Amino acid sequence: MGPLDQDIELLGSLLVLDTVELAAHLPDPVEHFDVDEAFRSDREGDDREALDPALEWFAAGSPVLVLVGVGGGVCTVAQPVVTWMGHVPQLAMTQAESVSLDAEVATLAWIKREVARVTSARKALFRTCVDCGESNPPEWMMNDGICQGCAERNHGVVF
Ligand SMILES: [Zn+2]
Repeated sequence: MGPLDQDIELLGSLLVLDTVELAAHLPDPVEHFDVDEAFRSDREGDDREALDPALEWFAAGSPVLVLVGVGGGVCTVAQPVVTWMGHVPQLAMTQAESVSLDAEVATLAWIKREVARVTSARKALFRTCVDCGESNPPEWMMNDGICQGCAERNHGVVF
């Protein structure tokens, strides 16, 4: 699947934005996902909010850098927060900004600005593993120095 797969086509149609231009401003790949009970974090706190299951949700980037939710006449762009319930990732959001689609202000310029804001905030949380040298999001780090993969491979940690 290329960058212009059916998921970004769906996002483009929901936002009434040109898919090619939209794709140019979102980290690849863009995936549409269902917010079901198993995937939604119920651990809300000062730093995170649950995803509204009434919206259509899209995750952009691998690892995910940006969440885009559309529905009820609103577009939301947010930073993902991933925690673990056993081995199941639980997804919530933080630093969310929303605009009304009715006011036609969810323009490409707005999307571009919000995606850049969220992406840089998310990337600032990444840490480089001292063992493998890979840059990882916080949910893949055992601590500030070692990723979970290296913790299992090199340090006998079992998750
Ligand atoms: Zn590592």
